[in-house]
Amino acid sequence: MSKKIAYGIISVAAVLIISAHTGLSAEEKIRTPAEASHFMQYTQHEDIVRFLSRLDHLSPELEVRIVGRTLPVQNYGAKDLFLCILSEEGAGSPSKIDRSKPTFFLVAAKHGNEQSAKEAALSLVRDLAVGDLRPLLRDVNVLVLPTANPYGNSLDQRRNEQDLDLNRDQVKLESPEAETINRVFRTWMPEVTLDVHEKGDGYYRVSIGCVSNVNIHARLQDFERGVLLAETAEALAGKNITYHEYLITQAMGIDSSAGVRYGREDTAGRQQMKRFSTTDLNDGRNSLGIYETLSFIQEGASRHDLATLKERTGYQYFGIRFLLESVARHGEEINTLVRGLRRDLVAKASVFAENDLVHLRMRYARDPEDATLTIQEFRRSRSPIRGILTVDKKAGDPLTAADIRPNPSGSEHQVVDQVVENWFPLVEPTTSVARPLGYIVPASHQDVIETLIKHGLELHLFTADFPLETEAYQITDIVPAQYDYLPPESIDVENSAVRTVAKRGDIYVPCAQPAANLIPCLLEPQSQYGLIRYWMYQLVPEKGDMFPFLRVTRAGDLPLVPYRSWH
Ligand SMILES: [Zn+2]
Repeated sequence: MSKKIAYGIISVAAVLIISAHTGLSAEEKIRTPAEASHFMQYTQHEDIVRFLSRLDHLSPELEVRIVGRTLPVQNYGAKDLFLCILSEEGAGSPSKIDRSKPTFFLVAAKHGNEQSAKEAALSLVRDLAVGDLRPLLRDVNVLVLPTANPYGNSLDQRRNEQDLDLNRDQVKLESPEAETINRVFRTWMPEVTLDVHEKGDGYYRVSIGCVSNVNIHARLQDFERGVLLAETAEALAGKNITYHEYLITQAMGIDSSAGVRYGREDTAGRQQMKRFSTTDLNDGRNSLGIYETLSFIQEGASRHDLATLKERTGYQYFGIRFLLESVARHGEEINTLVRGLRRDLVAKASVFAENDLVHLRMRYARDPEDATLTIQEFRRSRSPIRGILTVDKKAGDPLTAADIRPNPSGSEHQVVDQVVENWFPLVEPTTSVARPLGYIVPASHQDVIETLIKHGLELHLFTADFPLETEAYQITDIVPAQYDYLPPESIDVENSAVRTVAKRGDIYVPCAQPAANLIPCLLEPQSQYGLIRYWMYQLVPEKGDMFPFLRVTRAGDLPLVPYRSWH
């Protein structure tokens, strides 16, 4: 028997052993549900269950956990929400994960009709679990919530089973899906997060946005833009995938990101402006970024049809993958930066200082150094483009097929430069207050307390009536908002020292906790991001009213016990 034949027998035996264990031949590649259907259908919840079951069986690095459940509605039952945990040691809980590496948390398809986000996330899970990305787990832990909105996915619609926009629900956490995302984040405290979406079609196939709320430390945005996105952009260019930092176009004077369903009359006649992604805290980027996180949003260009599903899944995948690879290259730097800022924030919030400001309102601003923005965009041609001339020609010259190459952007489109004059790249705070040591929330505001619990905040309970010095707001003028989800158009307050009695059963919310920036944004009456803008809480005051939440700025022994500190 020749050596060659002997090796052949051994390798066949090896394949048989692998087959007995995994049910797979060594050569067979696990296909995602979308790949298995040749991208002819969108992956549904049950397909994901089968796919993850198979991967979990094959991969010691992958653990899957049920982390939440959607609400049952007519024609669509409650569905589990899955978290895929990918780590070198196959950890299934935060205490088991190797914290010498950064942890990267990916959320996909909060908007149910943004299907390629989910398909790309499933490809990534596969490649990390059993494919060529496994070596990345030496440098980074990865958490993936591959589909955040199963109901929306099934109907190919944006909103969830409660008709809520999940990417405008991260402040009030009314949906089980948004609450789940927040709980996973608070449980694992990943250093990097990425929320993957799709937008309209456009020249830039991948757009990624940084944190932009000015309460988030500027070093995070600098590191995101200067290091992680710069490397991601370069890698995408190497694949010929067009990329730009995520830009929003909106009518001037309108906040298009708050979650309001504006009527046509609201935007008619207004000029258009461009800016980076919203400062709002109700989305999946700043809501986690506010914990001093390197948080991102990715938007894939999309026509939202099956014909382009394979292509758009491809460029979404590379956007995610290249960002993850960049994170893996900078693990130590990321851990030092993020954990240092998180520690500093809690330390700062544990002492009251007049100059320790939390920014409650902000606006987009022009940059004199960077007055206009030039971008590329598709412009639809009046008559279809036949191709691009490769040689100079004059009228009357003969034209052969060899003189023309295909138009790279398709026959309907040409690529043109657009100069944006209304370019607002900066964010400036317009209303700020000194961060108090904490807030007193009266027991009568149980709905507010429940939302604070959903945020995973540390709360304390007054065990006795207790007199203390506080700061209280009286409303001196207010123009209420015209829509739910918007803060009052204007609100003037007078802050005065008040001797009051906290009642037994009231809640104390200390600011010295990881949510030190979030808490004032939720509870201050002037906050553009606060609970006051959701009509469900009935917090909009009238002129002359006292605002119900009190500020505590003087340290003292309060009769408190931890409230619901068990999990
Ligand atoms: Zn979206």
